[in-house]
Amino acid sequence: MNFFRKKDKESQDMSNSNSMASNSTASLQSGLKKANGNESTDQISVSSKSTAASARADFDLTEEQQAQYDAVLKHFQEYIKTEIPVNDQPRAATHPVLDVEKSWLTKECFLRYLRATKWKTDAAIKRIEESLIWRRTFGVVYIEGHTDEAKKLTPELVEPENLTVEPEHPEAIETFIKNEILTIPKEYDIIFQRQSTRQDKKLFIFDMDSTLIYQEVIELIAAYANIEDKVAEITERAMNGELDFNQSLQQRVLLLKGIDSTSIWEELKEKIKITKGARELCKALKKLNVVMGVCSGGFIPLALYVKEQLGLDYAYANQLGTTADLKLDGTTNGPVVNGDKKAQLLLEIADKHSINPKDAVAVGDGANDLKMMSVAGWGVAWNAKPTVQKQAPSCLNSDSLQDILYIMGYTDEQIQDLIN
Ligand SMILES: [Mg+2]
Repeated sequence: MNFFRKKDKESQDMSNSNSMASNSTASLQSGLKKANGNESTDQISVSSKSTAASARADFDLTEEQQAQYDAVLKHFQEYIKTEIPVNDQPRAATHPVLDVEKSWLTKECFLRYLRATKWKTDAAIKRIEESLIWRRTFGVVYIEGHTDEAKKLTPELVEPENLTVEPEHPEAIETFIKNEILTIPKEYDIIFQRQSTRQDKKLFIFDMDSTLIYQEVIELIAAYANIEDKVAEITERAMNGELDFNQSLQQRVLLLKGIDSTSIWEELKEKIKITKGARELCKALKKLNVVMGVCSGGFIPLALYVKEQLGLDYAYANQLGTTADLKLDGTTNGPVVNGDKKAQLLLEIADKHSINPKDAVAVGDGANDLKMMSVAGWGVAWNAKPTVQKQAPSCLNSDSLQDILYIMGYTDEQIQDLIN
């Protein structure tokens, strides 16, 4: 992976060289000055966030990631006060860190290296420090009296290496590019798939909550029962992969104990909002003879309703237990539909229709959808949390589920034919 370390540096140098000169320099200099004056470390993160390239970026970090970012930031606030070698030769002379180098140390830069090192703070710091020396060695940053003209990096110098290495490591390149793109969340969709299998999908299994419908059903029930804050908090943590799904389901369902179950489902059906493009997508898939199902960690009465609304073939979800007087008893009946169960159901449905799982697609937004994505030939993380996007085979961050048809390679004209 040495190549990628080097390429990592190169690509950043290339891509940052234009933007670092102007506004980001100014904002970071002011940020660094403030930081040196013992003001809070927020100064840098705020000012680096306001650079033109990232003005719209929503970093959406977890608490743990924010702590790792803060640690890197703290380290470099001290580091920039020191002198560093002018090149990568042993016993090289040293020189103070230049403004242009300070401006390279943006929040985007730190996060890119943290992601590249799988959020290992020490490894990220080491690689950023090495990159600073590397930039000096190859003349990306000019050090008066030290930069060796013969070593100056040119596009011609880099090209042969790219040409020889790329065809040998297609998967590594996919991962590398995907991770790079993920540093700009919600602005780009990047999807890799072989052309030959693009339209060859025979089974679609969808998650329900926040995928086929906008809402989380458990939160609709909680709102109905006026306990939404408690439930929303547990759901959020579960979807982020921080809580074991079964435990969180148990905790959430227990909060619903005592709710009258006779009219609740009819009332909630009226509140359910089908995601934009879901009807069109399902209509098109139906025309293409694709088998479709919903596998939900929510509850069966509403999953059946969504199945009926969208013309799906299957609906699986949890069943809430009731008491003799038809109140929810705070438990679930039957097997819990968690991540493992969703994957198992996908395989069972595929088997029933003699469909090779490689021709199946799983679509969902939560951590509990990753397993079904991994057993299917293809998976789409739909407007998912960053942690899910990182692990999913592909990500789609648009406002219409119909866009899945674009990923399958259908043109606007073909899509119109399919949905009319
Ligand atoms: Mg969901």
